[in-house]
Amino acid sequence: MTESVILRGLENVGALRTDGHFVFPSGRHSDTFVDMDRVHAFPLLMNTVANELASRFARDAGNIQVVVGVDRGGITLGHNVARLLNRFGGDEDPQIMAGMAEKDGSGFALLHGYDKDVAGRKVLVVVDIVMSGDSVRSAVTAVKACGGNVVAVAAMANREGTTADQLGIPRLECLLNLKLHSWDPPCKLCTQRVPLNTDIGHGRRVMSSLGAGTEESA
Ligand SMILES: [Zn+2]
Repeated sequence: MTESVILRGLENVGALRTDGHFVFPSGRHSDTFVDMDRVHAFPLLMNTVANELASRFARDAGNIQVVVGVDRGGITLGHNVARLLNRFGGDEDPQIMAGMAEKDGSGFALLHGYDKDVAGRKVLVVVDIVMSGDSVRSAVTAVKACGGNVVAVAAMANREGTTADQLGIPRLECLLNLKLHSWDPPCKLCTQRVPLNTDIGHGRRVMSSLGAGTEESA
């Protein structure tokens, strides 16, 4: 499956926004946003994404024991990937498990007993979108701290060309390699006084912290 098929799917559900002034969790700004909530709202698209990701690890299914989905976007995707990898692996027992890494303070942690599930096991970490790489690094660190062996990271999209070496992992598999830009504020759109988008991303939080009607660049 080509990138264009996935891109078309994102465009069809309104998940690819290219005409705004968006704020990322890191605080950086961009004119482009991939809205994973739109992907979650369309299970068939989510299944297409998960199926393509899982197929890239089909030959390695025997080398994966736990799939750890990261944060809200990665947990749903990771669970789907784990389900499909089990299909590739047949009816092996023990089956490939699905765990999750959740936000815990400034980083991620494996709660609810998932720390024990990854201990001594081979782990595929699944995120929705690789952005600056900070979240991925934090999740990988959390898995390793629990004794897990991270064999790869899989993502629907790689926003800014982050590499496996930069993340300190053996393999990074992304369906979309977008190479989009983001900037530290104030960015060129701030300078042009383009209003921050508050419907998606963290623009609403920024606006409320500055007071209603005040632009961040003011
Ligand atoms: Zn800006």
